[in-house]
Amino acid sequence: MSSQIQLPPRILRAIKANDFPTPYYLYDQVGIKQTAGSLSMALSNTGFDYQNYFAVKANPNPHILDILREEGMGADASSGPELELARMADMTGEAVMFTANNVDPEEYREAYRQGAIINLDDINQIEVLRSALGSEFPETISFRYNPGSSRKAGHNSIIGRPEDSKFGLPEHDLIEAYQLASKYGAKHFGIHTMLVSNELDVAQHIDTARILFSKVAELAQAGIGIKFVNLGGGLGVAYHPDQKPIDYKALSSGLESVYREMILDKGLPPLRIMTENGRHITGPHGYLVTQVRSVKLGYEGRRFVGVDATMADLMRPGMYDAYHGIEVLNPEGRRIVDQAVVGSLCENNDFFTGKDAKYRPLPEMEAGDIVVIRDAGAHSHAMGFNYNGKLRAGEYLLEPDGEIKMIRRPQTREDYFATLSW
Ligand SMILES: *Cc1c(COP(=O)(O)O)cnc(C)c1O
Repeated sequence: MSSQIQLPPRILRAIKANDFPTPYYLYDQVGIKQTAGSLSMALSNTGFDYQNYFAVKANPNPHILDILREEGMGADASSGPELELARMADMTGEAVMFTANNVDPEEYREAYRQGAIINLDDINQIEVLRSALGSEFPETISFRYNPGSSRKAGHNSIIGRPEDSKFGLPEHDLIEAYQLASKYGAKHFGIHTMLVSNELDVAQHIDTARILFSKVAELAQAGIGIKFVNLGGGLGVAYHPDQKPIDYKALSSGLESVYREMILDKGLPPLRIMTENGRHITGPHGYLVTQVRSVKLGYEGRRFVGVDATMADLMRPGMYDAYHGIEVLNPEGRRIVDQAVVGSLCENNDFFTGKDAKYRPLPEMEAGDIVVIRDAGAHSHAMGFNYNGKLRAGEYLLEPDGEIKMIRRPQTREDYFATLSW
């Protein structure tokens, strides 16, 4: 293994040139735009009327949403604050899809006022929505479908078995739900599902389309014309160097062929195709920058490199044993040794090298080193928390001209105490 830095040169330059207090997050606008543009182009080239609705929860910042709106994306929101973030980035109307579970009726009102496409998670939500809206009902409505055990592809490890999932309408409620919504005045219908997460296997995504297209045909027979299909998010990120990134060609040609076979060749009207990928779009373009505070030598030479970030800044390795690439600035000439990179939380899965994997061969680190944790652009800062009185890190955006803009300041002790009654 070579001790060479693998970071893109513009990221390395930006990190070396500034002295922001660590830990902090840095996002790469150029990279985000490239990924957003390539995905949209790959799927639009098939002739699909295609749009990705970025899952706001992956990186809930209006500056990020602004970039994605410019790339033609909409927003997938699941709460009032997420709807508001979308509004801050001028995303309203059908550029927003509201997909939530166990919803506060006030959030339905907010989504409706914003003109968002509302996606219901259960047949009982039809009445909840109607009463929230004072007996009005949206003209456009979508339902989230849970295929249960009819899904044949392997189960995705993050989401698990559909029949054990709390999300979506079971088969036996689906047709009745559309009929009831139609009775209440809905005129345009969509269908949605979300079956996989961080999935790099294109076949699984194509299988999701197959499942939804077969429902479109069934609903057409029951007199329900589906206008749009939302395949959900879940396109993966190649976090580990042994993983292969999503093959856009295979994805688009696979989707195109099931679309042709199951929709066009059956004489069904063309569909609008939507996805709601978050991770795939911003995940590879975020960096958590942290500094080594101290190195502890434990039993049998075990080396614990303590950094100033914690699992409260990035919980994926501690929660899912997720792999994130780790790089040390100026690694040249260092020995490669097994090390655990750990935070300062009073919690023993606070390992950036993974709660189970624990140790990883990395350039030997010392106090003062700057360490960069890669692929932290989605579900990273957003999942942060304040346990142990840890304050949330600041977030910065590296712009195409090399300027760095603060897009969220670091949390202060005052912020942390602001909600305390004392
Ligand atoms: C979390 C979520 C997404 C986004 O998932 P990614 O892994 O970021 O693509 C999309 N849709 C729904 C309903 C979700 O809950």
